[in-house]
Amino acid sequence: MRAAAAFPLTPTLTVAKPSPMSTGTLTIDLDAILANWRALDAMSAGETAAVVKSDAYGLGTARVARSLAHAGARSFFVAVAEEGAALRATLGPSPAIYVFSGHMPGDADMIGDTGLIPMLNSLDQMIRHAEALPGHPFGIQLDTGMNRLGMEPGEWAAVRDVALGQSPALLISHLACADLPDHPMNRQQLHAFHEMTDGLDVPRCLANTGGVLMGPDYHFDMCRPGIGVYGGRPFADARPVVTLDLPVIQCRDLDPGETVGYANAFTAHRPTRIATVAAGYGDGILRALGPQSSLLAEDGTACPIAGRISMDLIGVDVTDLDHDPKSLQLLGTEQGVDDLADNAGTIGYEILTSLGARYLRRYIGG
Ligand SMILES: *Cc1c(COP(=O)(O)O)cnc(C)c1O
Repeated sequence: MRAAAAFPLTPTLTVAKPSPMSTGTLTIDLDAILANWRALDAMSAGETAAVVKSDAYGLGTARVARSLAHAGARSFFVAVAEEGAALRATLGPSPAIYVFSGHMPGDADMIGDTGLIPMLNSLDQMIRHAEALPGHPFGIQLDTGMNRLGMEPGEWAAVRDVALGQSPALLISHLACADLPDHPMNRQQLHAFHEMTDGLDVPRCLANTGGVLMGPDYHFDMCRPGIGVYGGRPFADARPVVTLDLPVIQCRDLDPGETVGYANAFTAHRPTRIATVAAGYGDGILRALGPQSSLLAEDGTACPIAGRISMDLIGVDVTDLDHDPKSLQLLGTEQGVDDLADNAGTIGYEILTSLGARYLRRYIGG
């Protein structure tokens, strides 16, 4: 190490870059994302948008959205205006960017300057939008029973004619139970959406991933899948998108009776080899998935997690391997986001959006 004083004008030299040797490597297959989007697009007659909220479900909005736009996606949905403004900087002027949260106080400049289309959720938002940005495009979100966002039938009936007079770009609603195709709520919401929008000369959009899979009744003019594009349930035929490889820092031998990790949660019952890998719940590897989950060695051997997942470290039982591995795989084609989700009692969406900031992110394809 040279003395810092010798380089007083180059302080950036000291900034550490993530190295594939010391942190996990998250590989994101852009070709798989595109294949999934195209497969969902092929299921409906109308336009297929892409939902890229929450950093494209944790996978990196800039890279994901640029690839999708290149593949032909013309409309994108984000949760909040800040995400939309960043996406606009990435994609340039052409694609339509819709904002689920609508027009929030303080958002007018961002919506106006970056050409976002807020999905107005209430009369309050309609007034705010009309006052701050008269003539600026907007859509309307309707509540058909989920009771989360959107105008309810009574409110819509009251403002409908005024809203239609200003030519909304899109009418949407969201399905609460689309991952359960037989749930009666789906038909009920479909019926409510028809009641609220039939005969209006405005494009309509109802289907998330589950809605796309439920067939043409749910497709209307546009579909807006998210999780299926990223390889998750309920799109069973999706190509897996993410691979997560974690480096092994150290291996050690345990005698029967010795324990591993916090609270001694693992006890060796045979002569045991334990590998310690460099990742933990601080990287979004949910502590709750520990007891059920394994990491995979290069030859596919499942190596069970031994003891509690720590913030930065995980103990793994590698006794059944004939060598000490350099790295072990937590996510890949053998064990996907939904497998981990099942092990942790959650959903693939949460596994993806929890993926930590410390990983080296590597994009392939696209
Ligand atoms: C997240 C979201 C979607 C996408 O849902 P998936 O289940 O990920 O396909 C669509 N519409 C709304 C309103 C959403 O919040």
